[in-house]
This record gives sequence, C-alpha cells and structure tokens, in this order.
Amino acid sequence: MKKNLYKLILPFLLIILTSCEKEDSIFDFSSEQNQVFKAFGWDFSNQDILKVEKVKNNISVIFGYGGNILVSIGEDGTLIIDNQFPQLQKNIMTEIKKLGGKNIDYVINTHWHFDHAEGNRAFGPKGSIIIAHENSKEFMKKNNTINIVYVEYPQQAYTGSSLPKITFKDRMELKFNNNNISLHNFGPGHTTGDTIVFFREANIIHFGDILNTDSMVFIDSANGGSLAGMIKNLEGALKIINKDTIVIPGHGKITDYETVKKYLSALIITKDKLTEMIGNNMSLEEITKNNPVKDLESILGDTNVLIDRSYLSLIREGRNNEVIN
Ligand SMILES: [Zn+2]
Repeated sequence: MKKNLYKLILPFLLIILTSCEKEDSIFDFSSEQNQVFKAFGWDFSNQDILKVEKVKNNISVIFGYGGNILVSIGEDGTLIIDNQFPQLQKNIMTEIKKLGGKNIDYVINTHWHFDHAEGNRAFGPKGSIIIAHENSKEFMKKNNTINIVYVEYPQQAYTGSSLPKITFKDRMELKFNNNNISLHNFGPGHTTGDTIVFFREANIIHFGDILNTDSMVFIDSANGGSLAGMIKNLEGALKIINKDTIVIPGHGKITDYETVKKYLSALIITKDKLTEMIGNNMSLEEITKNNPVKDLESILGDTNVLIDRSYLSLIREGRNNEVIN
C-alpha cells in the first residue's frame, strides 16, 4: 500500500520540483552580471534590504537594491513605478500586501536599465501590464552593454510578457486611484527612453534616473544619453511641478523642488565648464585630472563618471553641430 502511495505521489513531486527549478532558472544572471552586483554591494541573499516609506494618499516608496519603487494602491488596483530585481519579487509583494495591495496591475518603467526594469521578468509573466517609453521597449528587446566607466554591465534581452505592452512617445495620461497621472518624455537624457511620472492630485513626481541623489550622476551616453538632454529633462519637469511637490529620485531619499533646482544648476555649470575645456582642446584625461566640478560633489556625488560620460556626449553633439552647420 505504502509503495503504491509513493508511486502516486512521486510524479506530482517531480512536477513541483521541475516547475520550481524553471521559475528560478529564468532569474539566473551571468558571472559578468554578478560581478557588477558585487561591485555595487548588492547581495540578493540579504532580503532585509527593502524599506518602505509612506508618502501621501496611498502612495508609498519601497527602497532596496536598484531604483526606487513608487507604489499606488487604491480602488482601481495597484500600480508601481520601477520594479528592481526578480530575486526581490517575493519580498516586494509582501510589502505591497502589507500596504493593502493585491496583485500588481500596472508597472511603469522609468527606463530600460536593469536596476529599474529587471523585475519585469518576474511581474510580467504574473500578469502585470507594463508601460514604458517606446525607445525603452526597443532597448529591452535586444542585448545591450551599459558602460558605467568603472564597470560594464551586459544586459540581456527581455522577451514575451516581460516587455512593455503599452508604450508612448512624448506624453501619456492615466487616471488611476483618484490621481491624474502624466508620463513625460523630454527627449534623450539619462537614456533615450526616459519617463518622468507626475501624480497631479498627490503632487508627487518620480524622476527615474534623470535625478539621482544617491552616489553619482550617470548618463548612458554610449546608448544615446546626453548631458544637454539631462538639463532639458530637468527644465521640462520643473515646468510641471511646484515648490510643494514631493520629489522621488531614481536613487536616493525622497526630496523636494529646491533639490531639483540645485541639481539642475550644478549640471548647467558642469556643461559650461566642460564645453569650455573641450573648446580649449583639453583631452578627457586632462579634464579629469583638473576636475572642474569637484566643488559640486555635495550635490552631484562622485563626478568622475559624470565627467567621462558628459565628455562623450558633448563631443558627439559638437561633432553633429559641425555637420549641421
Ligand atoms: Zn539608469
């Protein structure tokens, strides 16, 4: 009898084991990718990393490894902005349930970078509808290399339901949980597919990596990002918010309008100084050695990566202007 019971249970056990294996194997990362996580100090075996801060009107922010997740929960369901990593999905869901949410109905990706969008691979297959700028979807469909100067991250293509179902070009409007939500793209900035999201009634804005107040400013110039474009994006966003707006950066603590203004001014100074030095035929090495924005590091964080990536975009744009003129 016991033997027969075993025979009956065994196939089910095997099915359960293989399906678990399948679910975990889609979250495998290459050794190159794991090296970058290590360089950033991200240890996914430490699941206590998530911290939740309630902001206003059923809107909260989850901090963890990677980009800040905004969560809106209400009668229309649950919407999140950015989703970090699939390894954190169970704990992200636990926190969302504690806040009163059920399933994640919508995900907005502020852009395609892994530390903001990798969770698409967990939430997309579970039925979340993903929204992103049209260029971000194009990048997600292929393999890309992100050059962060100190390290390079090889980001693999996403497929099927991990890709955005809804895309937009310049602007998109949603009405969700008693908020008019507008999605804005002000042209290439941090990437060529950035989305800044503004909740009008709650007066909360999520900048994605157009605003990074954590450790350093990074512009993905090798994939079309641009310092001049970052400035244009920040100027565009400042026109839609006001002094009372609650500001969520891509990385870093919740902040305010004044911080955005200071950050913008610091980037304008950076652009002016670098343009002048490039005009004097200084090489990247010479500019880095004579760092002209060292005194702005209290606002911008470490400026070595910013100088390197800005130099690349300024040289490219200068060359393009020469061609046009
Ligand atoms: Zn990014």
